[in-house]
Amino acid sequence: MPLLTKSQKRTTISALRSSDVRAVDQKYNEPARLWCNEEWVTAGCLRCTDPRCMKFIDAEINCRHSPDFSYERDLNVCPVGAIKWNFDKELPEIDNHSCIGCGLCAARCPIGAIYRSGNHMEIAEPSSDYTDIPINHVNLEAHKMFIRELDKIHWNHQFQKETDGIMERIYQDISQFDGRSMVPNILVRNLIIALNHECAKSRTGDVYTRMDAVYSSNLKPTCKGVVEIEFGRDTLEASRGILDDIAVMHSRNNLDKNDNAALVVCLSFPNKRQGYFQVIKDINRVLGLKIQTISLGALLLLVWNGAQVNFLSREFYVDFDNLSIRGITEFRLNRRINLSDGKLGILEPEK
Ligand code: SF4
Ligand code: SF4
Repeated sequence: MPLLTKSQKRTTISALRSSDVRAVDQKYNEPARLWCNEEWVTAGCLRCTDPRCMKFIDAEINCRHSPDFSYERDLNVCPVGAIKWNFDKELPEIDNHSCIGCGLCAARCPIGAIYRSGNHMEIAEPSSDYTDIPINHVNLEAHKMFIRELDKIHWNHQFQKETDGIMERIYQDISQFDGRSMVPNILVRNLIIALNHECAKSRTGDVYTRMDAVYSSNLKPTCKGVVEIEFGRDTLEASRGILDDIAVMHSRNNLDKNDNAALVVCLSFPNKRQGYFQVIKDINRVLGLKIQTISLGALLLLVWNGAQVNFLSREFYVDFDNLSIRGITEFRLNRRINLSDGKLGILEPEK
């Protein structure tokens, strides 16, 4: 069934006159271009009936390796509800007053129709190379097949270039959500999914589930682990909490501690004096467990650049002796990162 509840009001979907797309190319701050019938055409919205820019399917917010995990059923891609379907225009629409610029909707669009323009996000309308066709069984099937064909094309899905200013704005917007809001945890869940993983966030209000989330990679070799999300100042608590999570998964959920690629997601890297990285180092030295730490900003950078990440190799392990993920993040982006040293504690602790 289409995910749009008012789909009866929808009359059309958009299709290329020929679906013979050979390549897709997206540059920062522009919609993608499609190589189609020997020319480049600008991507526009396809008026999908199951708009991925707006909704996940249940299999994405659930985790196959943890079938008993009590997970949050929120299927919304946008953590702040800023993207909605406009039934008059038959297109999704972004409310840029509430949009925080995380780029999740853009990362999900199979044709690269969503992009950042200046300070806000835009959705490119169906291009003149498209034709609107009525929704019926045959057209819908052809439309879905076209999207499946697009999924097979390997393309650089880079849609948002970082600057200190963009990150400052996003961090400012996020800091308005306090510890009781589920926005930060939903945001992290959705970013991990955008990195080609399944991720299940614990159900809101469930006081019996210890960990914030569990994930497993869709890439080969498969990787799985627990996630602690700490956007406040209490990162020391996160290093202790994740040990509990690993123990619970090992003893009760059949995930061996050595196979658990555990992840702490923080807003900003704590500095050396706060003790977090010393505890992470101690855990590795005494128990042989490499707990990885990644910031919200680093997750955003990876998603905005369509990076492939596999946490299996523990490449985001940092401790007291090495406090930077700049090198590994640049390696994954295959370029230098345009953020000042220590900026918001995204790639290394703030100065
Ligand atoms: S923006 Fe992309 S995912 Fe969303 S409806 Fe349009 S084509 Fe589909
Ligand atoms: S960029 Fe993020 S906050 Fe803005 S509409 Fe898209 S998903 Fe929502």
